[in-house]
Amino acid sequence: MQRIIIIAGPSGVGKTTVTNYLSQKYNIPRVITHTTRPMRKGEKDGESYYFETDTSFNKLHFFEHVKYGSYQYGSSREALNKAWKKSDLVTLIVDTDGVKSYLDELKEKAFFIYLTVSQPHILRQRLIGRGDNIEEINKRLDSKEFKRDLSLNPELNDKVHYLNNDDLNKTKEELDEIVKILKDSN
Ligand code: ADP
Repeated sequence: MQRIIIIAGPSGVGKTTVTNYLSQKYNIPRVITHTTRPMRKGEKDGESYYFETDTSFNKLHFFEHVKYGSYQYGSSREALNKAWKKSDLVTLIVDTDGVKSYLDELKEKAFFIYLTVSQPHILRQRLIGRGDNIEEINKRLDSKEFKRDLSLNPELNDKVHYLNNDDLNKTKEELDEIVKILKDSN
């Protein structure tokens, strides 16, 4: 069966780290999202994003889409199908607002992981360690999106696998177990 590992959690918790681990160790590709922002130097279409015009963007079938400033961003059914052509198991990072629409539509195809840390102050240290700009970190930690992603709607409690990412080695072991279960259930 085609499956998707959906990953949510606050900034700095380790979502990118987890998707990179799954990609490097198991060749599990991530679903590429779309944007109408211009391509930056060094970027390639279909790697960081699918780069769209407003017209091509508006033709897609979205799970969710948002506008930041004058640019649109979104994740689509088309991109998920493209990822599934590469692999029966794929990953996607989502925010906690978006997750319900995926779970409702993809049902048992979706395996939802919400990443946590035991001490929220660690998130700031991780963002500093990642090299983010301090002013941007302060803005981010103060944003309503960050506060929203710090917890999960209890309605989703029976659909989520909570994964504590205090210790990356333990996280990797747990991911190994999850991948094994998802591959064996095929
Ligand atoms: P997110 O994508 O959720 O914003 P990242 O994956 O970019 O978070 O992780 C933020 C920073 O924390 C990165 O520098 C990453 O290397 C580091 N990191 C991730 N997981 C751990 C962990 N378990 N322990 C310590 N540092 C971690």
